[in-house]
Amino acid sequence: MNTADLDAFARRVLAFHAVRAPATPRWALDVARRSESPVCAFCTAPLDLDRSHSWGLSPLVPLSLAGPRDTENLRMACKRCITERGTRDLLAWPELSQRLPPEPLDALLADRLLVLQRSDNHLVEVGRFAKPATVLAQLQERWIHPRFVVHAQRHSDGWIVGWPLAHRAHLTRNDLAALLRNMHQGQWLEHPDVVAFRLTEDVFQAAVWQLIALHALVIPLPLGTALPPDRSFENRWMARYPSLRQIRLRRQGTHEAPWPSQAKDHIPAYSDRPNAVRMRTQRQAAREGETKAQWLEARRRLAKRDAGVASGTLRAWLPGERAAMQADVDDLASSWLEARQRKVQGRSQRP
Ligand SMILES: [Zn+2]
Repeated sequence: MNTADLDAFARRVLAFHAVRAPATPRWALDVARRSESPVCAFCTAPLDLDRSHSWGLSPLVPLSLAGPRDTENLRMACKRCITERGTRDLLAWPELSQRLPPEPLDALLADRLLVLQRSDNHLVEVGRFAKPATVLAQLQERWIHPRFVVHAQRHSDGWIVGWPLAHRAHLTRNDLAALLRNMHQGQWLEHPDVVAFRLTEDVFQAAVWQLIALHALVIPLPLGTALPPDRSFENRWMARYPSLRQIRLRRQGTHEAPWPSQAKDHIPAYSDRPNAVRMRTQRQAAREGETKAQWLEARRRLAKRDAGVASGTLRAWLPGERAAMQADVDDLASSWLEARQRKVQGRSQRP
């Protein structure tokens, strides 16, 4: 590694952060304008909606930290709060707790957790047959820390890991530097614009997973390069999944080639040892119950929402919104049918 490598890394990091977040969509502003007593979500100051420069929408999970682009992630806020917060995670904004009374603060942070479920997340340690609650529990361990972006770039004899120096003080950044330096023998690389460490190949995986456990969003650089066709667990830190379900399914992206056993016409060979059969039957029965409950719950929520819209207590559907929710319900219904099918088949296989 030489200084040219470091300079190239720094350039890419700065280019990544120089990209402005996309402008708030018009329809989101229109939805916000309909609220009756608009106040800033962060300091409860009343907002004057007629003065369009005095307020805006601020995401609970910033878009640059892979928050979803939808209305549930957006809150109305005064310009002062928006400017002061910048692109920090709410947890990395200590002044917030002085502005907001404990109760609304707790509600805001609870909403942050809900939105994080639909933000991009790295893989968790559990396997693909883990229960959703297990995946969620592991993610929640991460989410108690403020989220931040870390970049990683491979070079000839190891990795450079770093972040822009000019970023607002993130609470955990000093700890991170200490972690990389002391635990992983990272070599600090001096640069005017970025904080960077050189990590050797053999400690890199451990270090990157530790960063992820501290709620880092690790973004490999340079952007847009094809990920190596390697499906070892180690390389999957590069992949990010937009929902709990996909973290569980580990949807196959360009970063991994399917195992031969996952080909379409593969017929799984099940063990017929009594214990395996019993466990399988139990699992299928539990899965059937779970998916049915999920489907009924989704259907009930949609009906409730429909009723609310019809009676005028909830805001009208946005274009395409209802179709999307209906598609989710249908999706859950078909996974229930599939699970039921499997349960029936399992039963008929037994003598
Ligand atoms: Zn405010």
